[in-house]
Amino acid sequence: SPIPDYLKAVLDNARSIERGAPASYIETLAQADTSKLAVALAMVDGNLYSVGDDRVEFSMQSISKAFVYAMAIEDRGLPRVLEKIGVEPSGDAFNHLSLERGTNRPVNPMINAGAITAHSLVEGRTAEERTERILRGLSQLAGRPLHVDEAVYEAELRTADRNMAIGYMLKAAGVISCDPRDVVRGYIRQCAITVNVRDLAVMAATLSNGGVHPVTGVAMIPQASVRQVLSVMTTCGMYDAAGDWVSNVGIPAKSGVAGGIIGALPGQVGIATFSPKLDERGNSVRGVAMCEQLSRDMGLHMMDVS
Ligand code: GLN
Repeated sequence: SPIPDYLKAVLDNARSIERGAPASYIETLAQADTSKLAVALAMVDGNLYSVGDDRVEFSMQSISKAFVYAMAIEDRGLPRVLEKIGVEPSGDAFNHLSLERGTNRPVNPMINAGAITAHSLVEGRTAEERTERILRGLSQLAGRPLHVDEAVYEAELRTADRNMAIGYMLKAAGVISCDPRDVVRGYIRQCAITVNVRDLAVMAATLSNGGVHPVTGVAMIPQASVRQVLSVMTTCGMYDAAGDWVSNVGIPAKSGVAGGIIGALPGQVGIATFSPKLDERGNSVRGVAMCEQLSRDMGLHMMDVS
């Protein structure tokens, strides 16, 4: 059939690219099978297409940041979230230790400082409650129960010095008020939730579909939050590669260090790719290549008039 055949051709093109290396900061990611490759498209009408290693699970990592930001907005309201987290692209690496000059907020919710803050804003009295709420919310978006990869979680926790430092910086600046260690642990658990590209494409398509789940038709995220999330994905979702990405691919997107990328084109489609080898900015090399080809071939750039 034409769409899967086309997607297989996209995979094959990407397979020939050898650049990049898997994330090396923890063993569990460093040992990833770099031959794994998958792509999925979820249409806003509920159709889902996927090829390659489309059932292989990997940790969401930073992709979770987009959805947890939406949950923080739902739980606290946008004005309160904006008081705590800015929306300016930073041009810095995702784990940069910094706050916005003047306002003392994390610059945006897609870098770790902002994501850890967003995590802290999710409803829940304890770290466990917050993390449970996030796991439940993400599972609902995926349409199946998701789980935390405990090996990834443990490994990240053992090397969490930088994120802990960010947590303490946030506490010292009065951005978070709870125990920074608890918040960072919860954030790391959120990052260790595993998915496959089919899950991610459906989750992305929910953003593309104004927050309405494309398969169940249930309203999951209010339209105003979706707009906010897609806006920061556009300007900050690919970290310091955001400008390149917007001009080449032109789709609101978010990447994770395990090799996943989501793209959400409003009114059209949710895209997910997976390949573990990353470029120097922490974005999947083959994933970026596949998204570039999809955007080119299908005319997905949001600035193009179709
Ligand atoms: N767990 C990773 C971290 O906090 C996630 C970062 C990412 O995916 N870019 O460092």
